[in-house]
Amino acid sequence: MRFEDLRLVEPLLRAVRTERYVHPTPIQADAIPLILAGRDVLGCAQTGTGKTAAFALPILQQLSKRSAEAKAPAGRIRVLVLCPTRELAQQIFESFRTYGRHTNVRQAVIFGGVNQNPQVRALRAGVDVLIATPGRLLDLMGQGLVSIKSTEVLVLDEADRMLDMGFLPDLRRILTDVPRKRQTLLFSATMPAPIRKLAGDILHDAVPVQVSRVSSPAPSVSHSVYHVEKVDKPGLLAHLLTQTSYTRALVFSRTKHGADKVVKKLVKAGVPAAALHGNKSQGARTRALAEFKSGKTPVLIATDIAARGLDVEDISHVINYDLTPEPETYVHRIGRTGRAGASGIAISFCTSEQHADLRAIERLIREPLQRETDPLGNGDSPPPPRPVPPRDTQPRTPRSRPTRSSSRRSRRRRPSAVSAAS
Ligand code: AMP
Repeated sequence: MRFEDLRLVEPLLRAVRTERYVHPTPIQADAIPLILAGRDVLGCAQTGTGKTAAFALPILQQLSKRSAEAKAPAGRIRVLVLCPTRELAQQIFESFRTYGRHTNVRQAVIFGGVNQNPQVRALRAGVDVLIATPGRLLDLMGQGLVSIKSTEVLVLDEADRMLDMGFLPDLRRILTDVPRKRQTLLFSATMPAPIRKLAGDILHDAVPVQVSRVSSPAPSVSHSVYHVEKVDKPGLLAHLLTQTSYTRALVFSRTKHGADKVVKKLVKAGVPAAALHGNKSQGARTRALAEFKSGKTPVLIATDIAARGLDVEDISHVINYDLTPEPETYVHRIGRTGRAGASGIAISFCTSEQHADLRAIERLIREPLQRETDPLGNGDSPPPPRPVPPRDTQPRTPRSRPTRSSSRRSRRRRPSAVSAAS
């Protein structure tokens, strides 16, 4: 299928061509016709699947058709997109700007941690699509600076993470202010019971769209693990990042404090690195992300929440400096590499207390992580992998999954983590 087959108007097709997209991704092929037809959608999709364009393109199309007739009055918005983090809000805003560059649809983004005045000025100028984090939206609503009473389309992106971050009460308050008659699109990487309950409450006759189960990492990613004790981790990380060639490396730390410590050690070892976490000022977060994207600081140490939804092209390595006890988080983390079919390398550090976590990850992804020997000679070998049931015993989702043999083949060809990139 090509974008031309999706009945998108020419200004949107032009923008898509400029982005060099040729074929819609599976979620785009599924969701765009449904959203254009005015249906509510419950989308189960991770970041990296093209889900932003899957909702932004049809929304822009609907608005550009209607906006000639009715411009939203200042302070009243027509499409509200809610998401959990500032970075994701900014990214969605930029996507709307990119895809809508040949339309007259106006968009704005609001999030906390920065002065509200420029955001208020943007709202006063008139906005069709507002991308917001829940806290700042409620704040500005409370001050009477924005009204969501004329919302025609409501989008909840990364709904599971919004719930994890404790936004449910805020979401419920926001929902009391949007009209009952509206189109609602809910996207979530996972579908735990609270999300299904929320979906049941706010969606009307929704069509489920599922692209890839969270337990299916991109087949183009190779996974490896080093058995390393806490005290030896900084040395191993510095060694890997000085001896390995990479385009960008995203390193996950369990804590904010830990992330800062890792940055200090890497900088001392001559590796250009910066931290991204919730204790940093918005200015520092924006700078760290911009310099990571531009390649000026190609190593970013992030916590899970700060990195959620990050869409940076060309991340060659994801390093789990602290292995996560939640296997699904492992899949989210490594979803930052190997995007759009590119190859990626996922390296994990596993301490002797974390063998159970490692096994849980292997069970979820149904594949053993390649055991690597610490090049600095520290630690023992990690325990050998236990057999995991073959992937084919899992229910398959249509279209998005490669065949088992093709994914195996692509993995087998790949050399080990370090030698692949050095
Ligand atoms: P998302 O899942 O929305 O974060 O998108 C992930 C990445 O895929 C972004 O960098 C998009 O620019 C890119 N992308 C989205 N749709 C397509 C497409 N149809 N073809 C190629 N790349 C795409």
